[in-house]
Amino acid sequence: TINILALDSSGELVVGVSTSGYPWKYPGRVGDSALPGAGNYADLRYGGAACTGRGELSMRATGARNIVADLARGLDPAEACLAMLTDAATLPDEFRAELRCLALTPDGRHGAAAGQTGSVYAVMTETSTEPELHPRRVL
Ligand code: ASP
Repeated sequence: TINILALDSSGELVVGVSTSGYPWKYPGRVGDSALPGAGNYADLRYGGAACTGRGELSMRATGARNIVADLARGLDPAEACLAMLTDAATLPDEFRAELRCLALTPDGRHGAAAGQTGSVYAVMTETSTEPELHPRRVL
């Protein structure tokens, strides 16, 4: 899965998610990536969020929507991502540690979280020549 959050100079903020889904998925499965509120969600007032990894969890936890709701309540992006993972971790799922998420606010603040260490996300700005890697906060 690839999660992309983009913000332009006019304040337009969008989220895009591309995925091949899970290997050996059952026929007809629609993962979280395609579902607004689960794998992706954006609201120009508060920000955008995207999830990857265990799609069943971000669907059940409405992960991206809940992250944006926490941005609206004033949490910073990494805190909002951690709050979603904390909530999702109470759902029974043997692969819960594989859920990852990131968020971006309309003023350009960003953050991300993961259930396992070693996960990073990349940031590009208008002056970047290379992506800048940032560690995700870990649950
Ligand atoms: N989130 C995707 C899904 O559940 C899988 C992935 O992130 O690779 O379909």
